[in-house]
Amino acid sequence: MTASAEPADVAVDIAIIGGGAAGLATAIFTKRAAPHLRVCCLDGARRIGAKILVSGGSRCNVTNTTVTERDYWGGSPRAIRAVLRAFPAVRAAAFFEEIGVALHEEEDGKLFPDSNSSRTVLDALLREAANVGVEIRTGCRVVRVDRVAERFRVVAAGEQFNARIVVLATGGRSLPKSGSDGFGYELAKGLGHRYVATTPALAPLVLRGDAHVPLSGIAHPAALTVNGVRLEGPMLWTHVGISGPVALNASRHWHRTRLEGTPADVRLNICPGETFELLEAWFLERERARPKAMLLTVLSERLPTAVAALWIWRAGIADGVTLSHLPRADRRRLIHALLETPLDVRDSRGYDYAEVTAGGIALDEIDPARMESRICPGLYLVGEILDVDGRLGGFNFQWAWSSAWVAAQAMAR
Ligand SMILES: Cc1cc2nc3c(=O)[nH]c(=O)nc-3n(C[C@H](O)[C@H](O)[C@H](O)COP(=O)(O)OP(=O)(O)OC[C@H]3O[C@@H](n4cnc5c(N)ncnc54)[C@H](O)[C@@H]3O)c2cc1C
Repeated sequence: MTASAEPADVAVDIAIIGGGAAGLATAIFTKRAAPHLRVCCLDGARRIGAKILVSGGSRCNVTNTTVTERDYWGGSPRAIRAVLRAFPAVRAAAFFEEIGVALHEEEDGKLFPDSNSSRTVLDALLREAANVGVEIRTGCRVVRVDRVAERFRVVAAGEQFNARIVVLATGGRSLPKSGSDGFGYELAKGLGHRYVATTPALAPLVLRGDAHVPLSGIAHPAALTVNGVRLEGPMLWTHVGISGPVALNASRHWHRTRLEGTPADVRLNICPGETFELLEAWFLERERARPKAMLLTVLSERLPTAVAALWIWRAGIADGVTLSHLPRADRRRLIHALLETPLDVRDSRGYDYAEVTAGGIALDEIDPARMESRICPGLYLVGEILDVDGRLGGFNFQWAWSSAWVAAQAMAR
């Protein structure tokens, strides 16, 4: 007799593929609502939760005090709203308090753990998963999912599962070394789903040339306009270009524009909140008050000196000019440049640096009241695998928690 090379199927009620934020939360919420179900969470990584650990500068910005569909891009805002309303940020915050993660609010409504350590968040999720009886298999990379009769066969290296329900929580393509390398899209496509082309989002931008290099490390408020979409917030110059919230938020628009084959027009405003008239009135007031002051000295009152110097140089204004000797035409050219300078963006830093993935499995193929596939009954999709990407500020985790909750309630029913 020859022994079969096929491993025996492990029978489970629910196989959750991916044990990141969305997969873990789905497993916990499902077991809480239906303790009798056998819920198995399969993750290809040896250690679970890599992305939670690196998130928010290792502090994990778990959600935001105010979250609406307007904080997201991608699929239908109505569908996103339905999911967010079913499990809003206030309930996510309460859930974390309940599992022992006290939160505090920081600028722009961002909620972080009081410990300021993402480890607290991951440990609490893993503890709660163990408490409610979630089975977690690490080092278990799923390579195939087949529909077999009314069930699913889930094939992983060395193991096979037979599941009544499958949840795809495999994330997107961002930070591929964490285990989220986009293979989940292939699994979804194999089950009949449509894929919206992906691009990096929340990624630093790379500029052509080297004029920005001396500014590396300098931060200031800015506004970026990418083909008509205006974003405002802190910006950080880097050795390769720009980063900080406004640049990260802009990156998805740059990529999506390029994906559509349209040239991307990026404009930088380093005096956001000002108008031409207000800035001109300010220059004239400073000229009256300090006629002998150098332009650079005066502009440094509102901008970092190195940035002010670069803009004066770019406007073609002579070094060391005083306010009383600044010709009107030069002043006006400088003001225009402060309010709008075209930026020659070459690329973003790509998926290795992107916090999230834009695009993914089409949201219109998912029932937003259940997170169940409209194409393949019994298949659920949650988290970043879907065509939904949030702006910076805890919105991507909130999408993971909300979509997990909706799926869990539907599966428990
Ligand atoms: C550096 C960084 C910082 C971030 N900071 C924040 C923040 O502070 N706030 C915020 O809201 N968002 C943040 N994000 C975004 C947020 O982390 C993600 O949107 C969120 O983790 C997505 O959760 P997910 O469970 O859908 O996917 P993931 O977290 O990517 O998890 C997917 C899991 O699936 C597993 N997997 C993939 N394919 C397979 C397979 N074939 N078989 C088995 N397992 C598989 C992977 O190993 C992984 O564990 C950050 C992201 C990064 C990269």
